[in-house]
Amino acid sequence: MNRIRLLPEQVANQIAAGEVIERPASVVKELVENSLDAQATRVTVDIQAGGRSLVRVVDDGLGMSRDDALLCLERHATSKIRRAEDLAAIATMGFRGEALPSIASVSRFTLTTRERGSESPEGTQVIIGGGKILEVKAAGSAPGTTVEVRQLFFNLPARRKFLRTEETESAHIQHYLTLAALAYPEVAFTFQRDGRVIWQLPAVKTGSDVATRLTALRERLRALYGGEQKLLTVNYSAEMRSPDDLEDTTATSSSTLNSQLSTVFRLWGFIGAPGVSRSTREDQHLFVNRRPVENRGLSFALLEGYHTALMKGRYPVCCLFLEIDPAAVDVNIHPAKREVKFHREAEVRRLVAQAVRQTLLDFHTAKSEPGSPKPTVHGPPSAVVESAGEQAVRPTEQSALPNFPAALKAGPAQPPPPSARQPPLRMGFSPAPLASRPITDHQSPITSPSPPAPEPHATHLTHLTPLTHLTPLTPLTPPPAQSPGEPVPLLNVPLRLVGVIGRLYVVLESDRGLVLLDQHAAHERILFEQMLNRLEQNDQAPSQRLLLPETVELSARDASFLREQLPALTRLGVGLSEFGERTFLLDALPPFVKAPDARRFVLELVDELKAAGRELNSLRLGEHTVAKTVCRHAVKANDPLAGRELEGLVEDLRHCAMPYTCPHGRPTLIEMNFRELEKKFGRTQ
Ligand code: ADP
Ligand code: MG
Repeated sequence: MNRIRLLPEQVANQIAAGEVIERPASVVKELVENSLDAQATRVTVDIQAGGRSLVRVVDDGLGMSRDDALLCLERHATSKIRRAEDLAAIATMGFRGEALPSIASVSRFTLTTRERGSESPEGTQVIIGGGKILEVKAAGSAPGTTVEVRQLFFNLPARRKFLRTEETESAHIQHYLTLAALAYPEVAFTFQRDGRVIWQLPAVKTGSDVATRLTALRERLRALYGGEQKLLTVNYSAEMRSPDDLEDTTATSSSTLNSQLSTVFRLWGFIGAPGVSRSTREDQHLFVNRRPVENRGLSFALLEGYHTALMKGRYPVCCLFLEIDPAAVDVNIHPAKREVKFHREAEVRRLVAQAVRQTLLDFHTAKSEPGSPKPTVHGPPSAVVESAGEQAVRPTEQSALPNFPAALKAGPAQPPPPSARQPPLRMGFSPAPLASRPITDHQSPITSPSPPAPEPHATHLTHLTPLTHLTPLTPLTPPPAQSPGEPVPLLNVPLRLVGVIGRLYVVLESDRGLVLLDQHAAHERILFEQMLNRLEQNDQAPSQRLLLPETVELSARDASFLREQLPALTRLGVGLSEFGERTFLLDALPPFVKAPDARRFVLELVDELKAAGRELNSLRLGEHTVAKTVCRHAVKANDPLAGRELEGLVEDLRHCAMPYTCPHGRPTLIEMNFRELEKKFGRTQ
């Protein structure tokens, strides 16, 4: 008896819908993608009840003829690819030809369309209910396409039950639309929810070169998020040139792939400045060839790029566009096309991490040219990237430091409020006379330019003799202007010491407002980089012998773990050696580590190294990780530092490649500008 039969078309469509159409946001995504593929310049999305009762997408794109309007509702009907080979180089959002029939099979669906440039004022309207064509008629319409999807899943009660609250479904829709709006700034988007306009984003002029697209993207970001976020420009390109990395290529595909020995890789967009992060990935927007994607490898690469500039458990804020030969990426691996697979995943990851890292380093050295994005890094991967491992800090970056005084003169991007114009600030490279009076009158910082009353703590600081490296370096070349909207790094503006509170937080001021420095975090960062520099130069870190070497006994497991870390620890100046099966001898420490209790120090070190190792999942930790851990034991908070030492601290921080976070990603500096202060004091809204 034959038991197998072909499913009716309608059932097949519903099955496909099960994969492609998860929720109202999937409908919005598929319809908007179609509008974008049809070269729309304006897209309007209306939803009601979180998209359950209505999703309507109106575009002014190419539209369809009557025949096409009927054909597009058939399964596997598409205008975007013709042959199997086309799958290897997809340049459109859609290509499977299954979205429209799927949606139409699970809703009450109306398609109204008129071809762009057609003579007749009439278009075509097709009405479908649960996959059955109910009516096809001529209908007056503007050029373009309107798709109305009502009562999604009306014929699939089980699916309908799984939908979340209107709020949640709307949030999913809004999230997708944000991504589409970021990827297509040249398209005007309107989003209305239950008759209320949520957004009205005007089209932004854009071109094909990256500089114009960056400007357009920035404008779109501003329209969506306001101008509050501190973002850095990423503009990086490299050539990917390692055919060895190619995933095994079958006989049929090898011809296309192998002919592509070098592929251009480009990453551009914006990332959060150091200190800007979120507790979720929500503001992490990644696009591959303009398609919003989720890709674990890329997320990791981002974290890797931030490295010590990001706290554990925090995520970067970014809007990054990766452009790569479509043949080097497979977009056909996920039903909703949310995920992609790179043929050379490891290399893509490396380049992304490198681009992010470079941007963060460049931010500090403020090399950006006026109004234009940073110079592109070109070259084979070997020239751009040393290794995939940890390499947050490159000592060579420090050679750029002599430019700082110039940058200082550049001052803040926005002019300080009039009252903030104060005597030249002493810290930093300001050539101000040392006798300049401290500004301590903070009772009325906004409106009162009254002469400041000296305050004991600050006074003794003003009598310090200048440190030689505070003298301005000459000649003062014209300041490298910051591109508009790009934040001026805090350490590039003059800072003046006000005092110390809680024996830990150093209070400073700049022309922009109040600055707080965590003395311990700053110290950790400085020591960390000094250690890395030494490692880089293959130097043994300085080490001080203990007067009384101590033995420490560990559990068998901890002992075997510590044994693995001994080479790195020794290089970093921690004199630990094996002294028996489970016993170690501690006889030296780096000079900056003050460990009155040697045994406790070793036990803590083991615990911290184990914790660090858990994330890395490797037997032997890299020297960077060990260095990070050792630096934790640097001069602890509450060690009183004299004014001169504090100035030295800020100065040393200026010389760091990644000065804004400690090696664990915590901020070293916090800034509260006058605007924020005014807000807090209720002077402005
Ligand atoms: P795909 O996008 O994968 O091709 P769809 O089912 O989403 O499949 O759409 C089928 C076809 O219908 C598309 O290839 C396109 O030719 C046409 N189409 C769909 N939406 C629009 C639109 N908004 N404007 C013009 N043509 C459209
Ligand atoms: Mg489509």
